[in-house]
Amino acid sequence: MVISRAECETLDEQDPLRDFRDEFTLPPGVVYLLGNSLGALPRRTAARVAHAVESEWGLHLGASWNTAGWWDLPQTTGDRIAPLIGAGPGEVLAGDSTSVNIFKAVTAALPLRPGRRVIISDLDNFPTDRYVVEGAAAALGDYEIRDIGTADGALRLEEALGDDVAMVLLSQVDYRTGAAHDVDAVTARVQAAGALMVWDLCHSAGALPVDVSGADFAIGCTYKYLNGGPGAPAYIYVASRHHEHVRNVISGWHGHAAPFDFEPHYRPADGVRRFASGSPPVLSYTALNASLDIWERVDMRALRAKSVALTSLFIDLVDELCPGLSLASPRDADRRGSQVSYRHPDGYPVARALVDRGVIGDYREPDIVRFGFAPLYVRHVDAYDAATTFAEVLGKELWRDEQYQRRLTVT
Ligand SMILES: *Cc1c(COP(=O)(O)O)cnc(C)c1O
Repeated sequence: MVISRAECETLDEQDPLRDFRDEFTLPPGVVYLLGNSLGALPRRTAARVAHAVESEWGLHLGASWNTAGWWDLPQTTGDRIAPLIGAGPGEVLAGDSTSVNIFKAVTAALPLRPGRRVIISDLDNFPTDRYVVEGAAAALGDYEIRDIGTADGALRLEEALGDDVAMVLLSQVDYRTGAAHDVDAVTARVQAAGALMVWDLCHSAGALPVDVSGADFAIGCTYKYLNGGPGAPAYIYVASRHHEHVRNVISGWHGHAAPFDFEPHYRPADGVRRFASGSPPVLSYTALNASLDIWERVDMRALRAKSVALTSLFIDLVDELCPGLSLASPRDADRRGSQVSYRHPDGYPVARALVDRGVIGDYREPDIVRFGFAPLYVRHVDAYDAATTFAEVLGKELWRDEQYQRRLTVT
């Protein structure tokens, strides 16, 4: 073996991030490699949510909109996310789902480029991103979607860019393969063509250092690597140079300049606050803020170093134990996010068989088995155990068992 389990234990003892694992609740006997889908539960979250329920809501009721800072949660939470994505204070607003924020970003971006009628969308992107672009284009009318992607015959970004392109929406890290774009290079190329760049950071914020300060818009979720909890508020970044010129199409009262004047017509608030729409889900923000207490203390360079070490270790072990298996992720760590994916024609039952043996990864169409390495709580021994279990499931064809063939609602 390229490394022994004992050597992995030594690496874990030397890991500068090792104490973070104790801040999370993880079920015993499980190797959790699905932090790229639903991040683990921070230990502090339950007490924080209980306090918000019992005291802020139960005792203080509506006064908490003022006294507990409920009203400002979209902005105060956004300001805590900002450093994780290279944004400045007042440039990020937390709220809604990623899908809704994509709609807000696309419909805010397009009018900034009047006369340009093309939206570039990536066929490899997560479906909701593409679906929402379709919905936004239809709602605004008279826009053309130009698809790019890595599939045979699909256009490349270079070929698709032209002086008719208003905006480009891409994910920094591909949800299937974990392949990562060079944000600065792509942003510069898009902007040089006169278009606006919108980044989806769902698989990058909390997985690696991110800097969208050059981009025009960005959106992302907080329930994956950022551990905000199921359905946690997403966020939108709008570069401050655009603030004065952009419109939120869901122009609700929370984004009004003077919401408690109850004026007859909408007037946008200054800054990113105008992207607020309606009442925030306070309990979900509370859970997210509990996890951001942890993220505030994370050195992102150390996080990236550990992520690269874990994913590289896993790839090396699987190379040795499962020769011939097709790696879907880039071998070059510089081009990889914090996940490792393999192609297997029976990927679904393979992922189910792994879950049954305590290695929690997942499956994505058409043939991808994914393993996410959330560096705050995944250890080197976890990478080791996952690789040996993976080899056993494949080597003994344990995935052929009847019980793993039937699709569950959520795959
Ligand atoms: C997870 C993810 C989403 C999720 O969208 P929701 O509206 O939060 O369900 C969107 N885009 C990408 C790229 C994702 O990875």
